[in-house]
Amino acid sequence: EKLDSLDASVSRILVFVRLRPMGKKERENGARCCVKILNKRDVYLTEFTNENDYLRLKRLRVRHFTFDSSFPETTTQQEVYSTTTGDLVEAVLEGRNGSVFCYGATGAGKTYTMLGTMENPGVMVLAIKDLFAKVRQRSLDGNHVVHLSYLEVYNETVRDLLSPGRPLILREDKQGIVAAGLTQYRAYSTDEVMALLQRGNQNRTTEPTRCNETSSRSHAILQVIVEYKTRDASMNIISRVGKLSLIDLAGSERALATDQRTLRSLEGANINRSLLALSSCINALVEGKKHIPYRNSKLTQLLKDSLGGSCNTVMIANISPSSQSFGETQNTLHWADRAK
Ligand code: ADP
Ligand code: MG
Repeated sequence: EKLDSLDASVSRILVFVRLRPMGKKERENGARCCVKILNKRDVYLTEFTNENDYLRLKRLRVRHFTFDSSFPETTTQQEVYSTTTGDLVEAVLEGRNGSVFCYGATGAGKTYTMLGTMENPGVMVLAIKDLFAKVRQRSLDGNHVVHLSYLEVYNETVRDLLSPGRPLILREDKQGIVAAGLTQYRAYSTDEVMALLQRGNQNRTTEPTRCNETSSRSHAILQVIVEYKTRDASMNIISRVGKLSLIDLAGSERALATDQRTLRSLEGANINRSLLALSSCINALVEGKKHIPYRNSKLTQLLKDSLGGSCNTVMIANISPSSQSFGETQNTLHWADRAK
């Protein structure tokens, strides 16, 4: 019994790994594949210590990781969605909050997984599509209202991606922490959503030197809020709200040190505060700590009501197969392993 109550205080985070296919450029540049996924769970990372070993294809130091599910490069967007996020959409319709994160180095496939393309829409779009299908299926009375907000945290500044303008200020009110003035877009169907999100994604901050590329330091957060009326035990009509947060995180390559102790020493350094703070919160949650340091960053403040506790939290770690990204892949897998 004691064990049970202990377990209840520890938040379980579902952790998945998605391997993207090798890019044409990478292959042309002589990249080799250094990751293998077997049995939809096991991830093997192989290292070639020097040029000669590499040429003789002598595999050294194979590292093995295992996750709730691991997706090989052939996995479809729909499969990733159903395995990672389908249940969370179901829960949101029951008034529970949840969040899904894509974590990984720049180029590892985070935006592809979250947003996707017109031909292959990602988790954000498939979740909304599924949500509308489920709403239609069950609510004959049509009392569900769906709102979307899409925002960015860049360099600890919060911006509205649906109507770009001045930075937004975070305020604490009855519902928790809200970004004052954030657009709440009322969505009626899926058709309009992909275009809306693509446009929003184009509003993400770009590095001054590479103005067509989204900054690797920008976090994009889509929040899907479902409100509906139901009756409580004494048959009074009550309003219920469920919120699903889908987050395309900043590139993890600069956040090498991810524990709480190093957070302080890295302040002021060219490092992503929100990403480090998220790591601290996740570590505290999986260790069952009483105090979760949500206040340390804008990202964690915004997601306070969608992380831990009775919320469903899902992490998708994106990795590249290329031997040229070995170090980043290893860091991502270690990070994901600790979030389990
Ligand atoms: P990130 O957002 O992590 O920086 P991207 O999602 O932009 O990375 O992916 C980098 C490149 O790889 C893009 O050109 C993207 O289209 C491609 N890519 C990523 N994942 C996949 C995948 N599962 N299947 C096909 N192409 C992918
Ligand atoms: Mg991206």
